[in-house]
Amino acid sequence: MSTATAEIQIHQQVKTFVGAPRKILIGGRWIAAASGKTFPTYNPATGEVLAQVAEGGKADVARAVAAARKAFDGGPWRKLTPSERGRLIWKLADLIEAHLEEFAQLESLDNGKPVVVARVADVPLAVDLFRYMAGWATKIEGNTIPISVPYTPGAQYLAYTLREPVGVVAQVIPWNFPLLMAAWKLGPALAAGCTVVLKPAEQTPLSALRLGELICEAGFPDGVVNIVPGYGETAGAALAAHPDVDKVAFTGSTEVGKFILAAAAGNLKKVSLELGGKSPNIVCTDADLESSIPGVASAIFFNHGQCCCAGSRLFVEKSIFDKVVEGVAGEAKKIKVGPGMDPATQMGPLVSDEQQRRVLGYLESGLSDGAKAVVGGRKLGDKGYFVEPTVLVNTTQKMTIMQEEIFGPVVCAVPFTDLDEVLTAANDSIYGLAAAVWTRDIGKAHRIAAELRAGSVWINCYNIFDAALPFGGYKQSGWGREMGHDVLELYTEVKAVTVRL
Ligand code: NAP
Ligand code: MG
Repeated sequence: MSTATAEIQIHQQVKTFVGAPRKILIGGRWIAAASGKTFPTYNPATGEVLAQVAEGGKADVARAVAAARKAFDGGPWRKLTPSERGRLIWKLADLIEAHLEEFAQLESLDNGKPVVVARVADVPLAVDLFRYMAGWATKIEGNTIPISVPYTPGAQYLAYTLREPVGVVAQVIPWNFPLLMAAWKLGPALAAGCTVVLKPAEQTPLSALRLGELICEAGFPDGVVNIVPGYGETAGAALAAHPDVDKVAFTGSTEVGKFILAAAAGNLKKVSLELGGKSPNIVCTDADLESSIPGVASAIFFNHGQCCCAGSRLFVEKSIFDKVVEGVAGEAKKIKVGPGMDPATQMGPLVSDEQQRRVLGYLESGLSDGAKAVVGGRKLGDKGYFVEPTVLVNTTQKMTIMQEEIFGPVVCAVPFTDLDEVLTAANDSIYGLAAAVWTRDIGKAHRIAAELRAGSVWINCYNIFDAALPFGGYKQSGWGREMGHDVLELYTEVKAVTVRL
């Protein structure tokens, strides 16, 4: 592993942004927390405080929900035409694009990811998501439905459905793709005509708050988007439980997903969940190893393994097991690990000391259960939250590291001999978010894709995302699909209207 060092100059606008305590966005105004409290957000490359942020609590959540309620129930948002809504969302996309470098740097400083990755992935994907959803604002339609009604013989009816916004939506997002997760949540909610209270993760609130400024600049009416930074146990829990919220959308751990669900029960608000994963990545003997090996490596090491869909269980056909493991270990060794703001960095630090401890804890547990590190296995450096890209072998299905989501740059490699065996093992998980298969046999590829219990299956590729492709989980990986037109189901209600003619 080589270590990178020379960092880029921080953009003036970013310096200004982190230089002052950031506030809460409620009803179009930036305000301090009702408690007056702030909390620090850290630069994970150094462990130093990056900025202070207002700590939203229950009282702030109540005000934000009231603002969103007002904007939904009587405000101008409902009166805008779909075309006007779409235009605002498109304008927001343009503004983000115009501030691309600033967002890339904020993501890198707050989350730790390489600025070069944020420039080509996080920010452009967020822009594209808003543009895709801007197009949907004018295409959310109902149906006309011929009905028979056996108990009113001879009567004629016109029946049709309206697809209406679900109302006030609470959105709680994680730290692994801070801006992109905000986009995944806000884009469809706004296209559908909902109003929103968004809570970013405590570790990475900055890009969502900067996005809030651009939302104001774009001209969204006051209260349509409210942003309350704060802690999950306080602000997040208050949002999930609030009786005036019609729907809660959450991305994060399966554990917290279950809390959200319980909190939502009070007023039976609608719930959508995008949760964890332990995704199987299957390499067959007939795969093109020249592309499979780097593909498999990037499936786990992209975003430092902090992806809900990371290819963290690597199943390789026995005859090529050693060759593939050696190849993936070789890729791991080549990765330049360093601060995200160094343009040579390919892998930055994990997001927090807590995540570093968590991942190191899993490594310790795996090694003491009998797993062996072919490469990596330790923390890196004394400053910041770095962990070595790691490939583990001698892992068995029963080990904790094969069952639980590690959420770090750690892959467990396992050999297999036949397809039935690997499919059983691949599906032996409480999760079902993503999966992949690498083979040149097209029939086999599609058979495997059909058998895998996962919301996304990649064939000869990995981590391919698009605003038009639905994403979400089977089993305990979640409820509902984000992106694509499927996401609109999450933010709309269907009303059946029947007219006697
Ligand atoms: P997490 O606790 O699930 O955090 C996700 C979001 O939920 C954050 O905004 C968090 O707020 C909020 N939250 C936490 N407790 C809450 C509660 N009781 N009620 C309402 N909201 C609450 O995830 P984490 O602790 O940051 O990471 C732990 C593990 O979760 C990771 O190791 C990984 O396995 C998994 N994870 C999965 C994803 C994913 O994309 N599926 C993303 C991140 C993490 P605060 O951050 O302010 O506490
Ligand atoms: Mg941070």
